[in-house]
Amino acid sequence: MTSANVRVPAKINLCLGVGPVRDDGYHPLATVYQAVDLHDEVRATAREDGEITVVVHADLDARTEAADVPEDDDNLAVKAARLLRDRTGVDLGVDLAIRKVIPVAGGMAGGSADAAAALVACNEAWGTGLSRAALEVLAAKLGSDVPFLLHGGNAVGGGRGETISPVLARGSYHWVFAMAHQGLSTAAVYAEFDRLNAGSTVADPQVPDALLAALRAGDAVALGEALSNDLTEAALSLRPELEDTLEIGIEAGALGAILSGSGPTALFLASDEQHALDIAFALGSAAGCADVVQSRGPVPGARLS
Ligand code: ATP
Repeated sequence: MTSANVRVPAKINLCLGVGPVRDDGYHPLATVYQAVDLHDEVRATAREDGEITVVVHADLDARTEAADVPEDDDNLAVKAARLLRDRTGVDLGVDLAIRKVIPVAGGMAGGSADAAAALVACNEAWGTGLSRAALEVLAAKLGSDVPFLLHGGNAVGGGRGETISPVLARGSYHWVFAMAHQGLSTAAVYAEFDRLNAGSTVADPQVPDALLAALRAGDAVALGEALSNDLTEAALSLRPELEDTLEIGIEAGALGAILSGSGPTALFLASDEQHALDIAFALGSAAGCADVVQSRGPVPGARLS
């Protein structure tokens, strides 16, 4: 049967503005996404009998808690395959094999990445031939981050993150990621955000002009200063030790340091490869840090490989 293999990147949020909770339970977001060079792979092999299965293989290191990734219908890649099948009326099944490198529950949208990859891989393996635009419509139904992970590069995210628009950007950036020993539930961090803001007025979120200007200019120093994340207080309230991790990176001279999305992965911007190596070395002493990874961004979204 026909197989297709897709590589899909992780995302980071260069800024994450979070507004007051909406009636549907979601928070309006104003974010700038960047896709980074840390990839999961999803292989889809079509099957005649209509069954949909998934297996997850993880690199044997601390940052991939494969045991926490469901190997049943709760897996977001399976949900993506089912949605594509429902929309196209194809009667084939598929075996999905996921190679996980993106940290699980790390604030880097690994589950959404696998969903985006499964859409592209099944579209190819089943020969359903949906356009990229049609896949983006399905992606938005699967989760807030999924459309961006199809798209890749840099993009502004609005709505609850699912409406993406292009951003003028130059340059390639050197990142260091500090992975935590244990993931953090996105829902728990938003609940803590609501608790901390109860009784106060939360402003509508905005993408900072300084961040857009830094990206337009390809200015890493200005970008480092403009990085921001409205979920920081909530995530640090649940994981106080992350403050030390951020502090160690800043002391090592990072141009900017924030949590990735809802955390607990911490991001550090470096000026070049050697600088990234120095920061990575310093982070080795952070008690809350299970693993340190150097990466580059932006990179393309989910692609056949
Ligand atoms: P986000 O940044 O999108 O809020 P995250 O990166 O913090 O999410 P994920 O790695 O996407 O978190 O996983 C969140 C939860 O989703 C996991 O704990 C797991 O139970 C579930 N999940 C379902 N499918 C997958 C998948 N393919 N990969 C990882 N997690 C999955």
